[in-house]
Amino acid sequence: MIPIAKPYITTEEAQAAYDTILTGWITQGPRVLELEEKFAKYTGAKYAVAVSNCTTGLHLAMIVAGVKAGDEVICPSMSYIATANSIKYVGATPVFAEVNPVTYNIDVADAERKITAKTKAILVVHQIGMPLDIDAFKALCDKHNLKLIEDAACAAGSAYKGGKIGSHSELVCFSFHPRKVISTGDGGMVTTNNEAYYDRMKLLRQHGMSINDRVRHESKTVVFEDHLEVGYNYRLTDIQAAVGIKQLEKLDWIIEERRKIAFQYLDALKDIDCIRLPYEQEGYFTNYQSFSIYLKPNASISRNDLMTKMLDAGIATRRGVMNTHKESAYKNENPNLSLPVSEDAADRSIIIPLFVPMEQKDILFVISQLRLHLC
Ligand SMILES: *Cc1c(COP(=O)(O)O)cnc(C)c1O
Repeated sequence: MIPIAKPYITTEEAQAAYDTILTGWITQGPRVLELEEKFAKYTGAKYAVAVSNCTTGLHLAMIVAGVKAGDEVICPSMSYIATANSIKYVGATPVFAEVNPVTYNIDVADAERKITAKTKAILVVHQIGMPLDIDAFKALCDKHNLKLIEDAACAAGSAYKGGKIGSHSELVCFSFHPRKVISTGDGGMVTTNNEAYYDRMKLLRQHGMSINDRVRHESKTVVFEDHLEVGYNYRLTDIQAAVGIKQLEKLDWIIEERRKIAFQYLDALKDIDCIRLPYEQEGYFTNYQSFSIYLKPNASISRNDLMTKMLDAGIATRRGVMNTHKESAYKNENPNLSLPVSEDAADRSIIIPLFVPMEQKDILFVISQLRLHLC
């Protein structure tokens, strides 16, 4: 069976976790601080705050951006459901915008149409690692005095106009779930260039505590912490951070390898006229967190039948990115919402295996099975 994805974890990560456990410092501490500093340096952001996962990072981003009950936040429906959920956590309403049919990233013109007097922020998503046009959204947010938040769950190591994702705006949230390009089991990071956001997110992720454990531990004098506001426990552990430090060292190499496989797929499938392949525009750099293929209406096989044929051949595939407004948790509040591009893409897209290391014979087998059923 060829899986859809597989984290690239080696004995180095296992050793780092082992060593950390034996230090006796196993939750948020020195390794978390080290990972934050290295991640900030890697992305080019001023600051980075480690969190328990990307969803909790998005929640903190909503809070520090000042999004509150009664506000509206524009986001794509076509995303993992956690994107919209993070808006709900602060009592605000997700307002779903359409995606662009080539990149599947949120469409700037439709986002602008959805702005109302209640709109507080736009939550954009770099879909499956493909960067979106950040400058266009920055300009839109500036024009309407809105906050910009980036869901970069899938986009560690992707880049836009020469800068790594994480460096462009004030709130960028990453995931280290095993389905993403690097992993700490679960885990996440928020990068920011705003010192006030940085300070408040550090507070909120650890119960609102004014002086964290590591600082108290290192202090030569007796210090007492205060709890400044109602916070959360959204900590990453040092065990996870130790794994993350090793993963981060490998990130550029992992992306290079992922891109080699993606280019091989692109080259081997480019002549099939009933499909549309991922498209990386000039100035955009994707980490190919996933490789999604869109089946045009002239395809002789349905997406679901193709998934079945691939599974029968021993190849795992997944449906394309979901539409949040079609899920049970959301469909009642959006009964008449129509997002034709998002709905069509979710119905007609298939994600194929891409992981590191992937054997050449497996890559060729995926290609040959796709060609067999699509041509
Ligand atoms: C995976 C993902 C998330 C959630 O990340 P977790 O770390 O699992 O919380 C959020 N948004 C998008 C777009 C994702 O792909």
